[in-house]
Formats: sequence, C-alpha cells, structure tokens
Amino acid sequence: NSKPKIVILGAGYAGMMTTKKLMKRLQPEEAEIVLINKHNYHYQTTWLHEVAAGTINHNQARIMIRDIINPNRVRLIYDAVVEVKREEQLVVLENSEIKYDYLVMALGFETNTFGIKGMDENAFFIQDIDSCQLIREHIEYQFAQYKNSEQKDDHSLTILVGGGGFTGVEFIGELAERVPQLCRKYDIDRNIPKIINVEASPSILPGFDEELVAYAKKSLQERGVELKQGTKIQSCTKEGFIVGEGHELIKAGTIVWTGGVTGNSVLGKSGFDLTKGKVTVNSDLRAPGEENIFVLGDCAWVMNEAENRPYPPTAQAAMQHATTCANNIRALLHHEPLQKFVFSDKGTVASLGVTDAMGTILDGTKLYGKPAAAMKKVVDNRYLFLLGGLHLFLKKGKVRPF
Ligand code: FAD
Repeated sequence: NSKPKIVILGAGYAGMMTTKKLMKRLQPEEAEIVLINKHNYHYQTTWLHEVAAGTINHNQARIMIRDIINPNRVRLIYDAVVEVKREEQLVVLENSEIKYDYLVMALGFETNTFGIKGMDENAFFIQDIDSCQLIREHIEYQFAQYKNSEQKDDHSLTILVGGGGFTGVEFIGELAERVPQLCRKYDIDRNIPKIINVEASPSILPGFDEELVAYAKKSLQERGVELKQGTKIQSCTKEGFIVGEGHELIKAGTIVWTGGVTGNSVLGKSGFDLTKGKVTVNSDLRAPGEENIFVLGDCAWVMNEAENRPYPPTAQAAMQHATTCANNIRALLHHEPLQKFVFSDKGTVASLGVTDAMGTILDGTKLYGKPAAAMKKVVDNRYLFLLGGLHLFLKKGKVRPF
C-alpha cells in the first residue's frame, strides 16, 4: 500500500472532527486514515461534571466511534498510545506499533495537581468517563453508608471540591442539584450534607467578567454551596484538605480536585519541547521543526498574538483546530500553501446546574439563568449535530424534541 498514512491520536473533539473533515476533504485513494483511541467510544468531555455528579447517565455522554466514523473508510484502532518515536515516524501503542506519514496529536488533557502533597493519592479527578463514574458511585455510597451506620459521621456527607475554575464551578452547580435528590432518596436531612469549594484566588472563576461571577456566586450560595475563596490548599489527606496559614482541616467524605490541567503526558514522553505541559505550535498548528506533525486541542499551546497570552483550552478551540489541521494536511498532500489558525470566539457559557447558567455569546452579550441554560444546551446539541447529524442529536441530545 503506497498511499500516505495519516494517523490521528485521540478521538476527542479535535481528533473526531479532524477525522470527519479529512474524510470529506480527501478521496479514499489519496490517503489512508487511521484513528487511534484508548476506548471504542468518544465522550463529551464538556459533560463530565454531570456524569461525576450523577445528574446524567454516563451513556448519554459517550458515543460509539463506529456509529460516527465509517470503519470501511477509516481504520479504527482501540489501544493506548505510549509514545511517539519521531525519528522513526512510529507510534508505540500498548499492544502494537504503527508507522505514519502525517501525525495528529489530539490526546487531550491530564489533571495537574501542581505537586500539592497528598492530592494524587487522596482526591478524585474529573478526567474521563471511568473516573467520573467512580466519583458518582462514591458520593452515592457515602449517602447509603450514612443511612445504614449507627454512629453517624456528618462529615462523611461533605463533598469538598478543590479549584473554583470553570470545571469546579460547573461541578458544584451540578452537585447543588444532585445532593437534594440524594437526600430524598436516602431520607436524610438536607442540612447535613455540605458542598464546599476551595479556591486560592480571591474569587472563583478568575478571568471571568465580574458581573457574571457575581451572578454565579449568588446562584451557588443560594443553593447551599459554601465558597472558600482566597484559601490556599496546603495539602490533601484521607480526611480532607489542610488549608490556609493556620493549617485548618476541612473534613469530607468525598474529595475532588478540579484545580488544574495540563497536556497529555505522552507529549513529554515523546520528547517534545513543552510549555506548561503543552506544545507551543506554529501558526499552522504544526509542532516546531516538524513538517508532518500537528498538535491540537488541549495538547496545543496556541498564542493569542493580540493579547500576548495563550487561548484557554476549550472544546470550541479544539474543533476549530481540527478544521485548520484537516485543511493543512490536504494542502501538504496537494503541495499547496498552509493556512494560519485564526480563532473565532463564539462566547463561553458555564452551567450552574440543570436550569441555571451564565456566560457570553458571540458579540459579548451576557446571558444569565434560563436563557443561558438554554443556550448551553443549544451549544451541546450543535456539536452532536456537527458530529453525527440529526440521528445523533435525537439519540444523545439534551432537549427531548417530543
Ligand atoms: P479530549 O476531548 O479530552 O479528547 C482526548 C481523547 O484522547 C479522549 O478520547 C481520550 O480517551 C483519548 N486519550 C487520552 N490519552 C490517550 C492515550 N494515551 N491513548 C489513546 N487515547 C488517549 N470547553 C468548552 O469549549 N466549553 C465548555 O463548556 C467546556 N466545559 C468543560 C467542562 C468540563 C467538566 C471539562 C473537564 C472541560 C470542559 N471544557 C469546555 C474543555 C474541553 O472539554 C476541552 O478543551 C476539550 O475536551 C479538548 O478537546 P481535545 O480533543 O483536545 O481532548
């Protein structure tokens, strides 16, 4: 087989969309396309906080790759990537290896605990479907255990969330919905379980618009969430977080860390130069010095030249990277000039629970409450539509049309 081989690593937002676009832009005889992913399903990373809280079933957040990508057109390999040997143009997988002519690194993020003592050992992470199912089960177990124990420890029902960024806030918003449900299910007084968020910065959602942050705080606090802002986590033990100068212990039965992410560790293992765990890509999204390797999504450090800082890692950006990358691979195959990546900001909406949200859209218009929550669902459903058309939207969409 003399066709050039394009190997895409990771079937997240960036990897799935790159594969779909390449299927459209290239004729089958022009190149062989291979998609490699750890699991046989793609999942909605942006819904993981809901899976972890238990407000949606994990199956709603995952989609079989074969349902979206025709395996007769794209070779699908379900295996974990261990490293890339660039000099040999070789990807080493857990169970085999594969050569490439063009490579797309789209392996997403990994949780970063910034070396906080005890965090890796004692906290749960919102990382993937499996880790989020574990959080959901653990929380429910605490409620069932509490109900069945004679000597009740109220702290066992406290859920402690480290980090008040986007993920942390979306997660506590879901917990504020879930905890009352669990109280009803296990017949437990709603005043006993606590949801506590700990953030080192003076306020949750650093970098967000002040009015939006104020709205989020009010919504969360009114639903019983305790926000400990300007509070540094010194370490994490089995019992909870040790915080602040006074080394106070906040006890909890469930500890979740959402305070940091970095690029996939495969990048480092493969010898790429890293900026905070990511590859600083060229404007065409290729890794520096590499003719045939693209790095996308949460693995890429993409500079916003106008503001002289990197764009935040988002699904929105990952999907836009995919379009530029597919166009550029086609350009390379056709010996045409490559495109520069230009980010087009469509706004950001953070959910605060099932019916509450806040954020900005397109021209910066601010949205709050139910309209924002509806917009969030439109964004989610739009992605399903782009990925798998009406069929996927009807199967996994968030608004039941009938
Ligand atoms: P991912 O979508 O994470 O995909 C990576 C893929 O690689 C996964 O399928 C994984 O299984 C696979 N993989 C990983 N390691 C290996 C390996 N070694 N071998 C094989 N396969 C591997 N962004 C927004 O724009 N809007 C939002 O509202 C939003 N909300 C979010 C809420 C939460 C709770 C979280 C965690 C993130 C949110 N984000 C949001 C950010 C967004 O989810 C990420 O920026 C986006 O997922 C990045 O896409 P990606 O393709 O780089 O990686």
